[in-house]
Amino acid sequence: MSESSRNHKITLIPGDGIGPEVCTQMVAIVEAVGKQTGASFEWHSFECGAEAYEKNGDILPKAALDSIESDKVAIKGPTATPIGGGFSSINVALRKKFDLYSNFRPVKSLPGIKTNYPGIDMVIFRENTEDLYAGLEVMINPDIAQSMKIITRKGSTRIAKSAFDYAKKHGRKKIHAIHKANIMKLSDGLFIKCCKEVSEGYPEVAYAEHIVDNACMQLVMNPYQYDIILTENLYGDILSDLCSGLVGGLGLVPGANIGAECAIFEAVHGSAPDIAGQDKANPTAVLQSAVLMLHHIDESATADKVQTALEKVYAEGKSTTRDVGGAVGTRAFSEAVIAAL
Ligand code: NAD
Repeated sequence: MSESSRNHKITLIPGDGIGPEVCTQMVAIVEAVGKQTGASFEWHSFECGAEAYEKNGDILPKAALDSIESDKVAIKGPTATPIGGGFSSINVALRKKFDLYSNFRPVKSLPGIKTNYPGIDMVIFRENTEDLYAGLEVMINPDIAQSMKIITRKGSTRIAKSAFDYAKKHGRKKIHAIHKANIMKLSDGLFIKCCKEVSEGYPEVAYAEHIVDNACMQLVMNPYQYDIILTENLYGDILSDLCSGLVGGLGLVPGANIGAECAIFEAVHGSAPDIAGQDKANPTAVLQSAVLMLHHIDESATADKVQTALEKVYAEGKSTTRDVGGAVGTRAFSEAVIAAL
């Protein structure tokens, strides 16, 4: 790769709550590793979210959207969304605006973390633009609210293709489509019909279907039966947090929102207002999101170096954060990762 192609322009949205704390550490680690591997980064940072709204009256400035459009790659911290009223989620807005239809969330155990389920290694593919997240809600009258669930052949087929292509490329053996088509016969029925049709083009990957309530029980009883989970938007959101719990919590699990033109990387977790500003947040999830981003921009050697350092810190177990049973703060954890690079 030429030197100029290793200078990467990345839009950064630190977000709300713990977002700025974990993103600061993520940037410090990525900068440190870049110095070793020859990759360089130009961060275009924008204030977006609830705190930006209070400060500047704008949750998602046009300049941030223009930057993502031009850089094609962004990484963001969590952004808070008011409950039961107020402005709509900027995450949903970004996913729709850039048609980031594939939400990819690898859930993998890290060494040294004590959980009930050692050795988890699964991937969630969550459709990211449709379902109840289409935001189509109306009050029929003051006592009846209606929310519309939109599932399309196009949306279902392209997320299924993403999952099967990934399985084929990475030697994954089995895909479970998770649904509730026994009740939502038309919408979830269409989703699994499309998944099944796509599966027929990939005979080397086994395909099965589980109803979502059963899948929750199966995940707690025997998560090892799952290799790739392929699902709709809402079930994917809920199952992601459940699966985070299997490997040690929300502080760990990364994610990527991928579209045909742009990609936005972000952790599964939210803004964690209960621990914001206290140097308690675990930056691992956003750091592992940065690892996914580095692979995406063809910096796989740089990505592997970060992952190896991170795993070394966990294997040693001396400098981990409180959420995973350790005793150090956000900054000390990240200093340990930099020292391990
Ligand atoms: P949350 O993920 O913020 O927190 C749930 C629990 O996990 C809390 O106890 C928190 O302390 C803990 N936690 C989360 N991340 C952690 C980390 N990195 N290190 C250590 N502990 C961590 O979920 P919530 O409280 O339901 O949501 C808070 C806000 O975040 C809401 O406004 C919600 O809309 C928003 N949210 C944003 C995103 C996003 O921007 N992608 C995702 C989920 C939730």
